[in-house]
Amino acid sequence: MYKRPVSVLLAQPKTKYQEKPPKPLWVEVLVDFQEGHNLYIYRLASGLVVKPGDIVSVPFGNQVKGGIAIRYLESLPSTLDPSQVKDIEDVIAQGFFPAEFWQLLNRLALYYCSPLISVIRLTLPPGLLTKSQSRVRLKPEALPPGAETFCTHAGQQILQLLRAQKVGDYSVKYLQRQVRGAQRGIKELRKRGWVESYIEAPKPTRPKQQKAVTLVVEAMPSDVTPRQREMLEVLRRQGGEMWLSELLQACNASSSIITALEAKGYVVVQQREVLRLLAAPPTVAEAAKILNQAQEEALGAINSLSGFAQVLLHGVTGSGKTEVYLQGIAPILQQGKSALVLVPEISLTPQLTDRFRARFGNKVCVYHSKLSSGERYDTWRQMLTGEPQVVIGARSAVFAPLPKLGIIILDEEHDSSFKQNQPAPTYHARTVARWRAELGNFPLILGSATPALETWVMFQEAGSREKGSGDAGEDLAINYPQSTINHQPSTHYLSLPERIQSRPLPPVEIVDLRRELQQGNRSIFSRSLQNALQQMYQQGRQGILFIPRRGHSTFVSCRSCGYVIECPHCDVSLSYHHTHEGARELLRCHYCNHTQAQPRNCPECDSPYLKFFGSGTQRVVRELNKVFPQLRIIRFDSDTTRAKGAHRRLLTSFANHEADLLVGTQMLTKGIDVAQVTLVGVVAADGLLHRSDYRAAERAFQTLTQVAGRAGRGQDSGKVIVQTYSPQHPVIQAVQRHDYQAFISAELDQREALEYPPYGKLILLRLSSGDGAQVQATAESLAQACENLVGSDGEILGPAPATIMRVNRRYRWQILLKFPATMELDLPDVSVLRDLCPQSVSLMIDVDPLSID
Ligand code: ADP
Ligand code: ZN
Ligand code: ZN
Repeated sequence: MYKRPVSVLLAQPKTKYQEKPPKPLWVEVLVDFQEGHNLYIYRLASGLVVKPGDIVSVPFGNQVKGGIAIRYLESLPSTLDPSQVKDIEDVIAQGFFPAEFWQLLNRLALYYCSPLISVIRLTLPPGLLTKSQSRVRLKPEALPPGAETFCTHAGQQILQLLRAQKVGDYSVKYLQRQVRGAQRGIKELRKRGWVESYIEAPKPTRPKQQKAVTLVVEAMPSDVTPRQREMLEVLRRQGGEMWLSELLQACNASSSIITALEAKGYVVVQQREVLRLLAAPPTVAEAAKILNQAQEEALGAINSLSGFAQVLLHGVTGSGKTEVYLQGIAPILQQGKSALVLVPEISLTPQLTDRFRARFGNKVCVYHSKLSSGERYDTWRQMLTGEPQVVIGARSAVFAPLPKLGIIILDEEHDSSFKQNQPAPTYHARTVARWRAELGNFPLILGSATPALETWVMFQEAGSREKGSGDAGEDLAINYPQSTINHQPSTHYLSLPERIQSRPLPPVEIVDLRRELQQGNRSIFSRSLQNALQQMYQQGRQGILFIPRRGHSTFVSCRSCGYVIECPHCDVSLSYHHTHEGARELLRCHYCNHTQAQPRNCPECDSPYLKFFGSGTQRVVRELNKVFPQLRIIRFDSDTTRAKGAHRRLLTSFANHEADLLVGTQMLTKGIDVAQVTLVGVVAADGLLHRSDYRAAERAFQTLTQVAGRAGRGQDSGKVIVQTYSPQHPVIQAVQRHDYQAFISAELDQREALEYPPYGKLILLRLSSGDGAQVQATAESLAQACENLVGSDGEILGPAPATIMRVNRRYRWQILLKFPATMELDLPDVSVLRDLCPQSVSLMIDVDPLSID
């Protein structure tokens, strides 16, 4: 062994003390329960090295539990007696979160002013550690002859048990039942290096079994019936193996055919364990399409990227963005890496998922909030395997634990559902995806027909710098988060300016509803729209009718005294709901779901003229039934799509032309690609235009453009009719001309003048409490405390009551902080505001809020 010469030690007396840096003594551990997660403090015994992110085992009550080490603590809280603090038992798995993922979570917590623990919660599937099992296994190669003689009694017994078993592996639980003092015994054996302990990731309690059919002959046998032959063909095309249920469905056949084939020895049917991945509907395999020039160029640019880069794929609706994603992903999978595809609302886009499945088969995994916890858990495990796969999911899938991620695609990047509004952290998936791509050093592709203003500006600025204005600065992007990695992100703007096969964008007709009324048309459908519906029906085509808002517009009011029926818990009017003919008429609150029967008479004046107003989906469908009784209609809103799988069922039925018209709300805007749709109608665009939010115009433009984009995607050209009381509104004008550029430059001028994003940065403090006076007082004192924070360059707007002041019996106030985008804000200071809130008032800090009303 090498020893330092004495003289060196003498010459550097100080090093003696510095050789041992102060060792962290305390560690905060996230302990997992069935009911949730909680943080506890443990002592770090000497000799044990624990890093944040490691899975550890800790004593808890009289059991041992799994937990995740969160962070070191320098000292104990004064309330805690050191003698009560227990030791961490052991490190079970190092780097459960890979270092870069851990960095990502920390960055998120910092940027969004949220406790790390709430960020971690986002990323763990339910009951992760509770379901895990702690086990011990023998290391026979390290075991000296007569090892038992060195051990305590408990140690001996454990050794005997392990040796008596073929693989020498037992769960700790089992050993505890068999041996007294098992924990001590295990510890002793582990110290000697004769056994090791590990946590086995949980298995589904009851592995789900399903029948699979496998083709076992090479050539097509001659003694089969035509039906049997068809089935064998389908099976062969799917690679020789399919789930029984899917095969039967694909061939529309009964199982007797399979039984016959099995008897002849051509196929084998076996029970297989399936991970409860979202049951994949049968899809017909599909080959890559031949790209057009613009797609080809975009794909070329994406394929040539290496390392971190950001791409904006700006393509008009129906320009073939999805095809570019699909072909961009293929080489990533071939390199053994995975792809993450983020979409606004996964359940609304079954068609999109089907296209991915048709291309990549069972490599596609769908991850979203409607999965049961078992499904979520299995999907999560499937991701951890590290096998190349494509994960498609909504916002929260940005945290999918894919170890070898090679690309993230964020489709419809402008969509506001990528932003989490509550609970904390109020993250934006686009921001997180950017950080993730940066830390993992791979490209991020943003796709949209109507990019968000901040995205547009970011790529514009990057573009103009690339073109050599010479002053390439560090912060390429407005709002670009302070990066911990200092390299210039390369940004690429790619455009698909035309629809596939140069199909034209549909002409947009604007109908002035004021004029309709003047001319005596009291219907909610203009004459133009009525004619178009008639024509559509006669030509055997399909249409979509879009109703901008749900609920709000269907309030019930008294025609005699004007009384409006409101929710007893919230400051909103109740909405009218009609389930079916003859059913009791119900009123419902869309904020808290309070439901009550519709009173016969006005509670205020007893007048019987209590009627509902507005044009919700229900009302529109009723009116349609009167005017066009022959039209087959599917209503698509949050009522008709509540059941699991309802979205898919309704959309599939529509795509199969089992209905002529799809009538629905916001949900319709996304990803519907039905070739026969030639007519799109907007019943009243005004619900989108007039809102107090500074982003209202942007959102209205995006929504209307997306809806319009559903028309004329196939051979037959389409047509869009937008009904409105404000035909001159700049948004309506821009939608009519499909003019993104014109809209955006006018809108950007306004944002700049008012210093709203992307030219300013916003933080919204949302306060709420059951006590109205207290929340107001707290809001006032917080606003005062903010003066220091925002300094002379920033601005404080408020405090003010929220637009809807009371929700669920809680009073809501807010304060808006506005800063120049260039200002360096010390975000931890914002967190300090929490300490100023009394217990009864809760504070939500919304960084980069998308909606401020
Ligand atoms: P976007 O995502 O831009 O709205 P899609 O990818 O959905 O556009 O493409 C619109 C339609 O055109 C889809 O039905 C798609 O299958 C088809 N399509 C896309 N690319 C091609 C291509 N290169 N050749 C033929 N059809 C294509
Ligand atoms: Zn009344
Ligand atoms: Zn309510």
